[in-house]
Parts: sequence; C-alpha cells; structure tokens
Amino acid sequence: MTMAEKALTRLRNLLNLEIQTRWRERAFAGGVAAFCERWAADARADSVQPGLLQEIVERLTRYADAESDERERMLNALLGLLDEPPPPDPALENVDRFGPAAARQPKTTVAEGQGDAGSVYQASPQSGDAPKPPDVLGRPITDLKGIGVKRAEQYSRLGIETVGDLIWHLPHRHDDYSRVRPIADVEVGESLSIVANLRGFDERKFAYKKEILQALFSDGSGTVRTTWWNQSWMRKRLTIGKTYRLSGVVGLYMGHKTLENPIFEEIGPSVVKDGPILPVYGLTSGLRSSDVSRQVQEALKLGLPSLHDPLPETLRRHYDLIPLTDALRQIHSPETSERLDNARKRIIFDDFFYLQLGVQRRRQEIQHFNAAAMTVDDNLLANYLTVLPFALTGAQQRTLDEVRQDMGRQVPMSRLIQGDVGSGKTVVAAGAMLIAAANGYQSALLAPTQILAEQHFRGLRNLLEGVELAGGNRPAVTLLTGRITGQKREAALAGIADGSVQIVVGTTALIQENVAFANLGFVVIDEQHRFGVGQRAAVRDKGRETAVPHLLVMSATPIPRSLALTVYGDLDVSVIDEMPPGRTPIKTKRFPPTDRERLYGFVRRQVHQGRQAYIIYPLVEESEVLDVGAAVDAHARLSEEIFPDLRVGLLHGRLKGAEKDEVMRSFAGGDLDILVSTSVVEVGVDVPNATLMLIEDAERFGLAQLHQFRGRVGRGEHESYCALFSRVKGGAQHERLNALAETTDGFILAEKDLELRGPGDFLGTRQSGLPDLKMANLSDTATLHLAQEAAQDLLRQDPDLDNYPLVQEKVERFWRGHGDVS
Ligand code: ADP
Ligand code: MG
Repeated sequence: MTMAEKALTRLRNLLNLEIQTRWRERAFAGGVAAFCERWAADARADSVQPGLLQEIVERLTRYADAESDERERMLNALLGLLDEPPPPDPALENVDRFGPAAARQPKTTVAEGQGDAGSVYQASPQSGDAPKPPDVLGRPITDLKGIGVKRAEQYSRLGIETVGDLIWHLPHRHDDYSRVRPIADVEVGESLSIVANLRGFDERKFAYKKEILQALFSDGSGTVRTTWWNQSWMRKRLTIGKTYRLSGVVGLYMGHKTLENPIFEEIGPSVVKDGPILPVYGLTSGLRSSDVSRQVQEALKLGLPSLHDPLPETLRRHYDLIPLTDALRQIHSPETSERLDNARKRIIFDDFFYLQLGVQRRRQEIQHFNAAAMTVDDNLLANYLTVLPFALTGAQQRTLDEVRQDMGRQVPMSRLIQGDVGSGKTVVAAGAMLIAAANGYQSALLAPTQILAEQHFRGLRNLLEGVELAGGNRPAVTLLTGRITGQKREAALAGIADGSVQIVVGTTALIQENVAFANLGFVVIDEQHRFGVGQRAAVRDKGRETAVPHLLVMSATPIPRSLALTVYGDLDVSVIDEMPPGRTPIKTKRFPPTDRERLYGFVRRQVHQGRQAYIIYPLVEESEVLDVGAAVDAHARLSEEIFPDLRVGLLHGRLKGAEKDEVMRSFAGGDLDILVSTSVVEVGVDVPNATLMLIEDAERFGLAQLHQFRGRVGRGEHESYCALFSRVKGGAQHERLNALAETTDGFILAEKDLELRGPGDFLGTRQSGLPDLKMANLSDTATLHLAQEAAQDLLRQDPDLDNYPLVQEKVERFWRGHGDVS
C-alpha cells in the first residue's frame, strides 16, 4: 500500500465506524472539523491526490453541519467516492466463498445438532456456578460458512469480529414486501421503498467535476428517475433489465419524480411476489444486505445454543416477553409481522431495562455522597425578587421552590430544568446561586461557548450584584474563558481560590487543572446537551472532597416527558412550561420560493426601521454547488446583488470557534443588518433587536431545530416574524412545517416531532451520555414504563444485583464507556 492509500484506508475505516455508531461524530475524536484538519494535513503529506483531498474535506465539512437523516447518505456517498474501483463481480466473490481453504479458518461443528436453543438458558440459574458454555459467541466470524478473509475484513469495518457480534448486528429496519408502494402512488417529499425494473441511463456532464447520472426505473404503474451527482461509478453497480428495491426520498427534478441518492439493492422478482418481511442491515461498501442476512443465519445456527438469556425467568414471564433466542431469530428472519412485533418488544424491553438499571444505580450512587445542606430564610429570596425588573412566572416560582428544597438537603441535588428558549431559566439559576452564596458557598456556571458565557456573565452581574447578603456583602461575579488572559486571568483565579469571588461564569476553561475553588457548592450547566459526559463530571469534581456540589443542568430543547424519563432518568426534572407575559407570539408562515423577492423587500423595510434579520440555509449535499456551501454562495449574492447597501454577515461551520464568536458578536452588537448562516447559528444568544428569521428549504430541517431557529427572534419588544421557504407540498415534511406555523409551544412541537420522525432522529446527533440502543425506539413508551418498573423492582429486591450476575454484567457492558450520565 502506498502512503496515500493508507491515508484513504484510515479514513474509510473511520467512516465505517461512524456509520456503525450511527453518524454521531463519535468516530472523529474532537469532532469532524478538528479531525478533518488533522487528516487533511497528513493526507497532503502522504500525497493524496489534491482534487480528491479537497473533495473529501468539503464533504466532511458539510457532514459536520448536516442533520442526522442526511448523514447516513452522505457517508455512503463518501465511501463510494473512496471506492473508485467498482465492486467485485460475482465470479470473484465465489472464489472468496468456495476458494482455497487457506483463506479460511477451519470450520467448527459445535453448533450442529444441539437441539432447541431456547431451553439452554431457561434451565441455567444465575448463581454463576453453572458450567460455562464453550465460548462459541466469542469465536471469529471466519468460523462461519461463507465468510472468508475478505468478507471478514468488510465486517470488521462495521465493528463485527465475532459470532456474537454478528448475532447482535440487528437489522435497522424491515421491509414488508407485501406492502411495497406502486410508483404511481408516491408523492414528492415522501420517504419510501419501491421495487422497480431498471430501464436505462442518462448521464450528463455540466462542467469540470459536475456530472449527473440518472437512471430510469419502472414498475408497471409508473416511472421514476434516480439521481446521483458525481457518482457515475454507480452505473457499474446497476444492470439494465434487473429489478431493484430502491429506498429514498421522493423529489422533483426537471418535472419528473426522482429519488436522490437512493439506497438500492438488487432483488429477484420472486421476492416481491412472496411478500416476505426482509431484514435490512446497515451496510458497508461491498457488503449487501442479502449477504449479511445469509451470514447472520449461519451465526445464529452456531451461536444461539450457547446464548444465555440474562433476564430472570420470572421477570420474563411476568412481563410476557419471549425468550431472547426466539427474539433474535424473529428479528433476523421474521415469520409473521406479529412475531416480529413480539421480538421487537423483547429487544426494546431489554434496551430500556439495562438503561434504566444503569440510570437508577447511578442515582443510588450519587445519593451516597454528602452535599452541604443550604438553607435560606424567605427574606433573602424576597429581596432578590424585588431586585428583578419583573415578577417571576408561576413556572419559574415553582421551579425555584423545587431547587431550594433540593439544596436544603444533605443529598446532592441533580436536577434538570427544561424550558423553551426565552422561558427564563437563567433567573431561576441565579436565585439558586444566591442561596449558595448566602450559605458561604461558591457557584459555577458552565456555558458551551465564550459568547454565551459572556452574555450570562453580564446578565448575572446585573441581577446579583444588586442583592445584599447578610452582613451587607454583595456577591462578586467573575468571568473565566479562553479570552480572559494575563493579569485579568491571574486576578480571576486568585479570587476563585481565596473565595472572594462567589460566582464564576465560564466555558470549559473552568474545568482546567489550575482552576481551584475555595469552596464550590453549586454547579449550573447551561445547554447541557452541548457538553460531554466527562466535562459534566469534571466540573462536579471541583468541589471539596468532603462534599459534592449540588448540580443544576438546563436545557432549551424541550423533549417529551416519555423521553426525559429515559435520557435523564437519573435527574429530577423541573419544567418551565410558561412564557413570561407580554411576549407577542412570533408570526410564522410558509412561502413558496417564488415569494422570495417580496420577502426580501420586507427584510429591507425591517432593516430600515432599525431591525435585524437572519437568513438560514441548509447545506445542500451533492448539489451543483460542490466547492462551496450554499450559504457562502447566498451570502455573495445577497451582499453584492440584493442588499449591496446593507451589512450582511456570514456564519458557517467551516469558521473556527473564535471566528464564529466574532461574527455573532458583531451581529449582536448591531454592526450587521443581516446574518446569513447555516444551522450553526448559536442557540441561546440573545439579540433582542433581531425580528426576522428567514429559513430556506425549511423542510430539510427537523422540527426541533426549526423551533430553535425561530427562538432567535421575538426576544425583544418588537413584533417578530419567521418565514419558511419550501416547495414541499405533501408528506411528513409538509406536516412538520404546518405544525411549526400553528404553534409556538416547544413541548407540543416536540411531541409532534417525535411522532413524525421517530426517536432516533429526534434525539439528534449529540445525545451524549446515552448508550447505543439496539433498537432505538424510544417512542415505545408503554414498554419503557414496564422496563422502568421492572428495573425498580429488581433494584429494590437486590440493590447491587448480587444474585443476578448475568444482568449485572449486561448492565456494565451496556454502559461501558459512558461514565456518569449526570
Ligand atoms: P432562557 O430560558 O432561554 O435561558 P433567559 O433566562 O435568557 O431564557 O430569559 C429570556 C429573557 O426573558 C431575558 O431577557 C430575561 O430577563 C427575561 N425574563 C425572564 N423571566 C422573566 C419574567 N418572569 N418576566 C419577564 N421577563 C422575563
Ligand atoms: Mg439560556
């Protein structure tokens, strides 16, 4: 291998890992952007072809900004790009499968004739002294029929090394071929599967590096085109006259229904007639779903007899769950949809059960520690309330009461405040900081970015330095971020160390080694989903050895209660579900793209009245605009042609953190009239003068994200507007936009979003701290509640799970590497 090939192989492996861990940037240490920089530097040194290198960097950059439902496709497209040489033809594959024995490990015969697998674990007690079965599940997959060295390598890219791994490589969905949709019925905007015959190709080049490959498919009811940009090698994967299952989103291109970048697989016509339920597996290049399906069957044959069901029999019966072996069999090759449902229920139950056990044990653990009991008399808070320029809402008051009660106990508080953007969480946190200060303890507030930390610092100083503590002192507030350097930094550190500063606001600079607190008793984490688990734990560690600080985390992403239970199962939750009075709801409306000019006129009028506007662009993957993001183009056009007289700024993911902060700062300071941005626009930044939010191709964003965008406006006294541009006329995307136009209540939208998108997408890419669920079906609240109840029962009976070593082991494995979820 040349150095260049090595660099590409390394990237390929990471991309596969990223696919396998469900495109959450887990594969890229330090995030995609940082990885990209490092990789590109190496790759350049390794003489990777410059054109290719540039293309890869651009795509990875877009990836960082993309939404989770886009990401899988982007990764596959990128893998395709890396795999220039066409996939092996079937003849070669046969060599692999039946070829020289040297290419394979000797086969084992353990699996054959072991009888019914289901009975094995049922008979075995959990006492741990049962004879250990031979470790069939730990054997390499090359022990299986049909898996040679080359195939094993492909599996290895998915993290599958052993028979057990393959058994647990669950299909990410099932296709029910009795219900395939005829092309004639599909509508633009829908995401679906069709089965159709390939009729022909049409390939066109536009300019250097820009070409389109279209394929025409027909299923008797109608025709559909598929579109691939700059992936002409796709052509070699498709044969005219053959039948394929195509899955993707229906769009329009030059007046025809199209599927853009669909996932496809060749299937025999008989498959369609028989109408079976087929598992569809997460794939990597060179590996087809049908191959995986066949090989999983081999793994099941070999491995299931030695698989132990960790769930206690009584529990299993009580909750009416099928045995694990049956569930795995049905998941991989369902006999009926009813049996598939039972299998799903079992596997989802397990997910929730181990999740809940982990969460609840953590809760038990933290409660073994001591915290300082902080009590205050009513005067102090009454005094605080008189300093506030407004009265607390009922929800704020209730939340503050809950926090005050928690802090009065010797058990460390672990509480989450969930409240929509603008619901006034900070005021509550500030009240709690006063409680700590009145008890002689320091507080720390951790914010995800410098600009947010600065904003909080100014706000808290205004609020708190006006309040008198006992003895006439006023709490001192200080700021600590990467921008605070030199003498200012020394002074801040000294004040934090000697206790003369009571309230410290900062970024992750706060958790660096050299920051020593005199007496940290209370920690607030804002926008908590932006922090890694380790960072959250680290800030709590800044307390004294004898006492753990009370912890308050805040989130502006409203999530349905059912999900909160799972994701934040170890936290107590307060919900601020009431907005401060006097806010005029943001007027939200959908527009066809043809109305754009008219809306630009409106932007201009608003700016002339002294207001500011945001214009948001999604990143258009695989578009004609390959070398620059859509926002960059739009910015050029808007600033030069449409608003040459106005000040138009640009924000996108390729800017460094400090550059982003700088742009945001000038917009917040009124030095820009219009901010053109991709989805990176900072959540939580307060620009009360901004009244207009224009969102292009709004259907490409998730509902939660659209709601967050909209929350950037309507923060001041002026009437505010949100305009959604979209051409979509039907389907889930259409409903999403309508929902947004209908309500401004984040919780209603969250429920709706969950319903429309399913939980996997809903939680998005950064749900750090949560283990990977085998079948992430968090919307199945009925099963979730059962599992929670079961976990509570079991822990009540046996807090350390001493009598259930299998369960114990499973929980540990499930949570490995996920640290403290609080
Ligand atoms: P978020 O929950 O998004 O963090 P903030 O705490 O930043 O919200 O509050 C948003 C704005 O609302 C701030 O300007 C704050 O001063 C104001 N605010 C908070 N509580 C009230 C209230 N009860 N009445 C009026 N305005 C309030
Ligand atoms: Mg906030």
